[in-house]
Amino acid sequence: MSELVDNLADLTSQKDRDALERALVGTICDLLSPISAEIYRGVGDRDNQRWLSCARLGPGDLVPTTDTAWATLDTLPRLADFPQRMQAMKTQLVVEQIGPPVCTVFPLDRNADAPGVLVIESDLPLSQESRRLVVGVLRLYRNFQSLLDYGERDTLTELLNRKTFDGAFLKATIEQSKVNSVEQGERRREVVSSSYWLAMIDIDHFKRVNDTYGHLIGDEVLLLLARLMRACFRFHDQLYRFGGEEFVVLMRCNGEAEAALALERLRASTANHLFPQVGHITISIGFSEVRSGDTPSGAFERADKAVYHAKAHGRNQVCSHAALVAEGKLVEQVANVGDIELF
Ligand code: GH3
Ligand code: MG
Ligand code: MG
Repeated sequence: MSELVDNLADLTSQKDRDALERALVGTICDLLSPISAEIYRGVGDRDNQRWLSCARLGPGDLVPTTDTAWATLDTLPRLADFPQRMQAMKTQLVVEQIGPPVCTVFPLDRNADAPGVLVIESDLPLSQESRRLVVGVLRLYRNFQSLLDYGERDTLTELLNRKTFDGAFLKATIEQSKVNSVEQGERRREVVSSSYWLAMIDIDHFKRVNDTYGHLIGDEVLLLLARLMRACFRFHDQLYRFGGEEFVVLMRCNGEAEAALALERLRASTANHLFPQVGHITISIGFSEVRSGDTPSGAFERADKAVYHAKAHGRNQVCSHAALVAEGKLVEQVANVGDIELF
C-alpha cells in the first residue's frame, strides 16, 4: 500500500508531460513487475499514421527509453500493423492479446493531439485486480494531464501557450548540442545536420476581421487557423498561440529550405482556405534558426524582424531572417556587452 502511495505521489509531482509518461511506466513496473510497460502514441498524417514510443521500461532498463521526438515518420511502425492497439484507442476499452507474452492494451486518452495506449507485456494474463489497479492509476494520470493542459494550453485553440515556451526552447538547444556532439563523434558520414527553427506567424489585417464581423467570428478564424497549422506541421513540431493573433512554431528541420517549405505550405493553405463568412485571409511569417547559446528573446527578435519585413513588403509571405541579412535587406544586430542577458 505504501509503495502505491509513494508511486502516486511521484506521478503527481511531475510538471513535464514527458516526465509524467516516464513516471507512469515506472509506476506500472513497480506495482506489477511485468516484462515491460510502454506508452505509444499515434502520430503523423491521416494517411500515414505511425506508432511513436514515448516511454518504455523493459527487462534490464534502469530508466525508461523513448523514440527520439524527431524520429523520421517512415521509420516508425504503421498504426495498422497493431490492430489491438487501434481497437483499444477506438473503443476506449482494455484489449488483451494472448501470447506469449500476453499483451494487455489500455487506452490512455482520447482527446490529446496524439492519442495513446499503454501496453503491458506479461508472462500470464493480468488478474482482474491488477487490471483494476492499472485502470485506477490511468484515471489519476488523465486527471493530472488535464490539469497540465489547463495550465499549458490556450483555451480557444488548444495550442500550447506562452508559459511553456522557454522550457521547450531550452530543451531544444540542449538536444541540438547533443546531436552536434554525436555527429562530430561519428565524424559525420555525410549526415545532414538538422536544427531547430523558430517561426512567428501573424494574421494580416486581423483588426479588419474583428471590426467587420465581430470578435466571435474573429475567434473562429483563430480556431480554424490553429487547425490548419496542425494539418501543415509534423507531429514533433511544437505549435503555440502567444495570445492575440500571434502564433509561434518551434520545429526541427534539415536546413533553411525545409523550414521555408513547411511555412510556405501553411501560408498557401491559409490563403486558399475559405473561412466561413470572412472568406479569405492571409498571414505573414518570419523565421530564424535557433543558434547554439541562443536565448528565446534573441531568436524572437530575429523572427520578429523578418515578420516586420514581410508586413512592410506586401504581407502574405514567408521571410527568412538569414536570407534577408544575406541580401542586405536587414542588418544583423551584433550584441554588445551591455545586451548580454546573464539570467
Ligand atoms: P497587420 O497586418 O499589420 O498585422 O494588421 P493587424 O490588424 O492584424 O494587426 P494589429 O496588431 O494592429 O491588430 C491585431 C488585432 O487582433 C487587434 C485585435 O482586434 C485582434 N485580436 C487580438 N487578440 C484577439 C482575440 O483573442 N480574439 C479576436 N477575435 N481578436 C483579437
Ligand atoms: Mg499582431
Ligand atoms: Mg496582425
